[in-house]
Amino acid sequence: MASLIVSVIGFGYVGFTTAVCFASRGLPVYGYDVDKEKIAKINRGIAPFHEPKVTDLLEGSLQSGLKASSDRLELRDINFITVGTPEGKDGAIDLSYVKSVSETIGKALKNLSGYRLIVVKSTVVPGTTEDIVKTTIESFARKEAGKDFGLAMNPEFLREGSAVQDMFQPDRLVIGEYDKKSGDLLEELYRVFYGEKIPPLLRTNIVNAEFIKYANNAFLATKISFANTIANIAQRVPGADVTVIARGIALYNSTRARFLNAGVGFGGSCFPKDVEALVAFSKQKGYDPIILEDSYKVNVSQPLVAVEMARTKLGMFRGNTIAILGLSFKPNTDDIREAVSLPIIKEILRNGGKVVAYDHVAKENTMKVFGNKINYAKSALEAIDGADCCILVTEWDEFRQLRPKDFLSKMKNPIVIDGRRIYDPNDFRNSVKFSAIGMGE
Ligand code: NAD
Repeated sequence: MASLIVSVIGFGYVGFTTAVCFASRGLPVYGYDVDKEKIAKINRGIAPFHEPKVTDLLEGSLQSGLKASSDRLELRDINFITVGTPEGKDGAIDLSYVKSVSETIGKALKNLSGYRLIVVKSTVVPGTTEDIVKTTIESFARKEAGKDFGLAMNPEFLREGSAVQDMFQPDRLVIGEYDKKSGDLLEELYRVFYGEKIPPLLRTNIVNAEFIKYANNAFLATKISFANTIANIAQRVPGADVTVIARGIALYNSTRARFLNAGVGFGGSCFPKDVEALVAFSKQKGYDPIILEDSYKVNVSQPLVAVEMARTKLGMFRGNTIAILGLSFKPNTDDIREAVSLPIIKEILRNGGKVVAYDHVAKENTMKVFGNKINYAKSALEAIDGADCCILVTEWDEFRQLRPKDFLSKMKNPIVIDGRRIYDPNDFRNSVKFSAIGMGE
């Protein structure tokens, strides 16, 4: 079989990771993004974001056949749409990038002979691939889906922070196909890519594939908000500890403990916007998805639980310096989209407190939001030096190494708020003034 040539349109977290992973296994990959600066960086071997293993793969990929361009979209055998689908007005999905890229694809397809497969990998609300992508491409290309070109929807489940590993070893593959030929071609690509180790594969229609991605994120988000609700009750019960309670649930019904970790809530570019988009979508369809709305609401107020803990211990923020450990929405990424560090910092500043923040990769992105309204430390120890209170916001591994004596020796007032439950209360409680999400005091 001649090697399939792949094109990836939209070189963000998903598109770029997908492209370097494909290229690293010898598949010729063409990448396109409208962001000229990003493409120039990539062609110089610089990854556009912090993500483990991506930089290593990029170098090899550029040598083995990854071509990235911002000049002209060129269609290949299989073309993945990986542009952003951010939150628009009222929480509903903003499909403007998807529409615009469909137009560009339609125009490019018009002058091409031969069969091309278009695959929507971006997260889109049910109906989008057929109602918007298909109809736009058809009208600009003057061609027909299923006859002149193929169409599929292939949701992506990778997680920032472990994107490369998730791409190489996903839990599952979901292919939503417009017709059998489209599904067969996409399956063939994945069989070439994964070889013997192809993950469990579900082939279905397009609307189910679109739905699976939202249902999946809404399920996980609800699980987290459920754990946080239990945490908020447990906090009011002396002796109770949500980490033990969650472990008990996981043992009882063999639910995987993942996403049962209570903390300051979830953030990132997917959960918040996907839950909101599903809520808006459901309302448009005439159904109030109460449980999803509530799990979203729990999450919005969850960062403030840590702020309240700090206020209780401090008395007031004014005149006090708060050290914030971790800014990214989760470890191993510099992404701060919807990160809970943002509402936490805003609330402290609003109440007159001073903030010294530390995160070894997310500082630059955070500076774009807060500028010099807060101070940035070069290490965790520098951040807590002289602070009146410390809030652990992101569970980077380096923060796990900190011991009670570090806080005791460095801080003016050793108040430690564990927003991610990484510290053993037995170690901390007796030496520093310690509060933790979901731990009754
Ligand atoms: P991103 O914002 O990091 O990247 C999107 C890229 O698309 C940008 O580089 C932008 O310049 C480019 N773009 C916009 N319009 C374009 C156009 N017309 N032509 C070419 N390029 C264009 O987004 P992301 O985080 O990679 O997410 C992409 C999609 O994948 C979204 O639908 C998201 O919901 C979904 N998703 C994201 C993750 C994640 O962890 N980030 C995981 C699974 C699914």
